Amino acid sequence: RRVDTKKKISSRNPSNKKEIVGKVSSAGKSEANQAVEAARNAFAEWSGTEVNFRAEYLELIAGELRRRKFELAAWEVYECGKPWLEADADIAEAIDFCMYYAAEMRRLAEPRQVNLPGEENEYFHQARGVAVVIAPWNFPLAILCGMTAAAIVAGNTVVMKPAEQSSVIAAKFMQVIQDVGIPPGVVNFLPGVGEEIGPVLVQHPDVDLVAFTGSQGVGLAINRSAAETTSEQTNVKRVIAEMGGKNAIIIDDDADLDEAVQGVLSSAFGYAGQKCSACSRVIVLKPVYEDFLRRLCAGAASLKVGPAIDPGVNLGPVIDEEARTKIEEYIAVGKEEGELALGVEVPEEVAGKGYFVGPHVFTEIPAEGRLAQEEVFGPVLTVFRAKSLDEAFEIANGTRFALTGGMFSRSPVNLKRARKEFRVGNLYLNRGITGALVERQPFGGFRMSGIGSKAGGPDYLLQFLIPVNVTENTMRRGFAPQHDPDEPA
Ligand code: NAD
Repeated sequence: RRVDTKKKISSRNPSNKKEIVGKVSSAGKSEANQAVEAARNAFAEWSGTEVNFRAEYLELIAGELRRRKFELAAWEVYECGKPWLEADADIAEAIDFCMYYAAEMRRLAEPRQVNLPGEENEYFHQARGVAVVIAPWNFPLAILCGMTAAAIVAGNTVVMKPAEQSSVIAAKFMQVIQDVGIPPGVVNFLPGVGEEIGPVLVQHPDVDLVAFTGSQGVGLAINRSAAETTSEQTNVKRVIAEMGGKNAIIIDDDADLDEAVQGVLSSAFGYAGQKCSACSRVIVLKPVYEDFLRRLCAGAASLKVGPAIDPGVNLGPVIDEEARTKIEEYIAVGKEEGELALGVEVPEEVAGKGYFVGPHVFTEIPAEGRLAQEEVFGPVLTVFRAKSLDEAFEIANGTRFALTGGMFSRSPVNLKRARKEFRVGNLYLNRGITGALVERQPFGGFRMSGIGSKAGGPDYLLQFLIPVNVTENTMRRGFAPQHDPDEPA
């Protein structure tokens, strides 16, 4: 049911803050409770729907997203300041999630049989119940769509809570869900302020699962709060929380620096560094340190900063005022902790219009410094010098996170060491560390980067399902045949 609220979220174009991209109703506690109730009411029927039907719905969503790809990408350019290429990639990833999870659910729907004379065992999966999906703004369609698609194809019903900053794209996605005819109550779009309605959803006794992607602080709070149980509850909530990173790339002393500079630039400054997978630390072996740093800074200085709509722009805006202030605070911290090797000023003609931050590169930051340890989520990169590969791995592994990482090297022995010693969820050798593709690079971290198994990977859907085993003693005597309603009479 469509609900209008007095309170609205006004979504602005981060490249041009005067421009309002759209206004969306902002749900409060009462709407949050209504959404959970609607999801609960729809659960019995939806979870009983044949798997093939549910998978086909995902394929229909994929088809509709394909048809509207340019339009949706354009909304991302305006609402989230995504450069064209990255906006296009985000829609492509959403399509991939739908197609992959549809195929995965068909695979998982085959029950596993272990039969012996006199005993039949069947192992199969059931839906968990009501899932709350809480998504970030930085992959505004792909992540929201991926978590939602996984939940519904597994037979759960969903309360879909997007990030405030990407509410309009989320509303467009809800339109797609409605256009393909997914029954009412299966996906309940609930735009609103995270701090207000997030806790209501997470603590709701009728919610069975929370699928969250976002910052570490919010993820940990959700994990804590979801663990509390009340006497009304019949389920311990399952939490999937994909969180941040402090990702490093190691540059070995024999690395191809042409490739390494390019790989680091795109990983660190793509989408203005606002990717959980972004590179925020580079660890360079001493013999090539000076050379690499000089070339990296020259490359970063050549990146064009400006509005995302301009196809020639490399570095668009950051998402909002709050983000810019936070990044600027980190830049000030960096100047105290170490040395600024490069700080690109935002060109005057765009500076006042949107939330821009130029690329920044720091050196001489102590290993325990804030810039070495905390996720910045902006175009800020720290370069470290390592005396040996041992030290490089030590620095690389020396944070609480374990999301992505990379190494540029021409030594097979050293690349082999990285596979074993570099403790990250997604390791990339001799390439950039962002842009994971569904199925080819199942994505997700561990340690403080996440609880859950990789999105776009073969274990992902299992988190949304309950495994059940049924054992039947088939050594019957005096068997009484009855009409089976599933068989023709
Ligand atoms: P965020 O944590 O601020 O917000 C994420 C979502 O949580 C939003 O929908 C927000 O409204 C909601 N929220 C806020 N407070 C809440 C609360 N108290 N209870 C429940 N929900 C609440 O993150 P963000 O700024 O939208 O996204 C950036 C962060 O996401 C970065 O830290 C990034 O690393 C991380 N991220 C991780 C992955 C991954 O796969 N590991 C992917 C993308 C982004």
